[in-house]
Amino acid sequence: MKSKYSKLKIFHYKDKLDSLSKETNKILPPIHIRIKPTNICNHNCWYCAYHQDDFQLGQDMVMKDSIPEEKMMEIIDDIADMGVKAVTFSGGGEPLYYRHIDKALQKLADHKIAFASLTNGSFLKETTAELFAKYGTWLRISIDGWDDASYKKYRNCKEGEYTKVIENIKKFKQRKSKCVLGISFILDKDNVQHIEKQMNLFKSIGVDNVKLSAVIVSNDSKENNRYHAPIFKQTKDTIKKIKNELEDENFEIFDAYHELDENFSKDYDWCPHTQIKPVIGADQNIYTCQDKAYNLDTGVLGSIKDQSFKKFWYSDKKNFFKVKPSRDCNHHCVVNTHNKLVLEYCDIDKQHLDFV
Ligand code: SF4
Repeated sequence: MKSKYSKLKIFHYKDKLDSLSKETNKILPPIHIRIKPTNICNHNCWYCAYHQDDFQLGQDMVMKDSIPEEKMMEIIDDIADMGVKAVTFSGGGEPLYYRHIDKALQKLADHKIAFASLTNGSFLKETTAELFAKYGTWLRISIDGWDDASYKKYRNCKEGEYTKVIENIKKFKQRKSKCVLGISFILDKDNVQHIEKQMNLFKSIGVDNVKLSAVIVSNDSKENNRYHAPIFKQTKDTIKKIKNELEDENFEIFDAYHELDENFSKDYDWCPHTQIKPVIGADQNIYTCQDKAYNLDTGVLGSIKDQSFKKFWYSDKKNFFKVKPSRDCNHHCVVNTHNKLVLEYCDIDKQHLDFV
């Protein structure tokens, strides 16, 4: 099966790679944009970084913020005009809870922009489900519990939500659709005992892939590693076993459970990712990335409250170099490895390219 999660996708965009560094003066559109349409959520997961006081991620998030309908339509027209390839909706809040989501999805489809969403799956029904089934590229539903009681404990949500989400997944998979449906299973000390049972369930109801990642409990990598140390070996062994037993051409398990030597410090001074996949927040600020969303001190590239996204993007290349990862990003960064690969590419001495 061809991989959907490779860190090397960006190397299919040579022009973009060659435009990234300060020296070029060239600005090309982002390839992919993450949009946080709303910060309102119907769940309240205990580990959600947006709801924890001591997490840098989401530190300045205003819970009631949503992108106004006209601004959302303006953004979509802009990015179509600029040639952005794809949009992923994510939180802040629950993206499918956004009042104008169906209109936004239809407009993206009309512009032939690929779209996807991270979601808790509780609103994956009716028109929204139809639009994803017809035009969506992928959905990733976050699940942590293994029954109604545990799910409610993780999420402080209504009784019976787990059953409802599983039913929504089953119904979605009964449609004839090319939209890939994945699960994001966040591993903590409680649910590692249930990985095997859950993976079997997901496969049996037609889920296409599962991404297994570690719960982040702290901004401090050492504290985070300490939390996972007692379950690390058992978790890695179980993942290896279930991958062997369950993976086939219709079902992929992606092991994103981190290694115990994970270190959040950075040794590079500019961030390529910022120009590849920026984030538009529900507060109408443009952020460098997912891990700096709602960080008004070190994550904001600019605001589109009083200007269009397109106008902002092409206004000044210096905007993309305001953040210095070695100084500003000593916390979790999901694309740290991607960044290092791109920076190595950008640092190659062109005089020596032929000596491959
Ligand atoms: S280095 Fe990572 S955390 Fe820092 S701005 Fe870039 S993507 Fe974001």
